[in-house]
Amino acid sequence: MTTTAEIISIGDELLYGQTLDTNAHWISHKLDEYNIKVFQRTTIGDDADQILNAFATAAERVDIVLITGGLGPTKDDLTKSLLAEYFGVGMVRHEEVLRDITLLFAKASREVTALNAQQADLPANCQKITNPVGTAPGMWFYENNTVFVAMPGVPYEMKSIMTQGILPKLHEMFSKGVLHHHIIKTIGITESSLSDLIEDWEVNLPNHIKLAYLPTKGQVKLRMTGSGDNLNTLKQEIDALKMAIMPKIAKYVYGFGTDSLEGVIGQLLNNNNLTLATAESCTGGYLAHMITSVPGSSRYFKGSVIAYSNEVKITQLGVSTEDLKQQGAVSEEVAKAMAEGVRKELNADIAIATTGIAGPDGGTAEKPVGTVWIAYSDKHKTLAKKFNFSRDRTFIVHWSALAALNMIRLNVGVK
Ligand code: ATP
Ligand code: MG
Repeated sequence: MTTTAEIISIGDELLYGQTLDTNAHWISHKLDEYNIKVFQRTTIGDDADQILNAFATAAERVDIVLITGGLGPTKDDLTKSLLAEYFGVGMVRHEEVLRDITLLFAKASREVTALNAQQADLPANCQKITNPVGTAPGMWFYENNTVFVAMPGVPYEMKSIMTQGILPKLHEMFSKGVLHHHIIKTIGITESSLSDLIEDWEVNLPNHIKLAYLPTKGQVKLRMTGSGDNLNTLKQEIDALKMAIMPKIAKYVYGFGTDSLEGVIGQLLNNNNLTLATAESCTGGYLAHMITSVPGSSRYFKGSVIAYSNEVKITQLGVSTEDLKQQGAVSEEVAKAMAEGVRKELNADIAIATTGIAGPDGGTAEKPVGTVWIAYSDKHKTLAKKFNFSRDRTFIVHWSALAALNMIRLNVGVK
């Protein structure tokens, strides 16, 4: 049987849109690692009736209810007194909590007021979970086969209590096997084409290993999730399945797990002892920004010429006035000339150039918004490819940069 959980995030600020509910996101992620299925996430304001109602309905649905927010000393913080009301118990003062608060306050030369001291009062049926970084302790309840956990809303306090106090207890109580994820990252292929390509392999996956397609901004991630009793066996099994499908998709796979395309390109250039330069029209420096966001990129990245105007294309990169006039700035000829020009100017082994129409204006019937030429040049060859990206300006620039990086991968890395 699967262990299920519900996360209840409490606070008016979450509903007003002032605070993003990062707590629920983080908790979901952690529980997933422990093979606990988050069944529902509930967000409610600082309202007593709604909070009580949320406790009751969650307890009916799931094994574990995790609550964040509303543990502070102020009047709008209702969680603790409502938990006591919900369980029908009174408050008990925890002297050691009061001592901790007094010590903490003394360091800051602050008096402990009656309001502050109330933080040491906890519902009688709860087990105190130490808060290593703040004054409001976490609380653990186990009633009618349901675990209730209450934690402060402050994200770093919640994380600290979860990691040190809650997750180990949950693991001990509910641990039933392990879960393992493996992510394959692809570029240059759509979700549906990828699905067609790996159909035979996908339908033969064993029942305990599931496949998910996760398309994000010009890339598709394939996530294999396996469940079992032994982590090593599961990892080996997933690895074997990965090896079986790799020959078919290698052309599109740039990395695994937390790899980034720009990071992979960096390694590739480093390993091959190659330097890179870029000439950017439509990406306006975005490509160089992606490349230089990788630590250590100075080893292989020479620099970029942002050749936004025709004038800069001519004077800095040696693009011919004739080509610009006859073919237009967004053309195969100009893209190639930009790549060759910047390679020579910046004395790099390889170069990439982008020129396109990012919109929203400037498109024509022949060259609509989203038309982008990307050129690659090294000492043996110069080639260019035309792309037709859709959507808005931000996407077109982003996709162009990804396609440019992928062109490096295809010409340097994939043999
Ligand atoms: P405190 O003891 O500090 O008063 P608390 O339990 O009362 O803690 P809240 O007052 O609800 O917590 O929130 C404290 C801070 O944490 C606020 O800045 C709030 O925006 C932030 N916060 C609360 N809930 C969340 C959440 N679900 N995700 C991210 N941040 C949150
Ligand atoms: Mg609050």
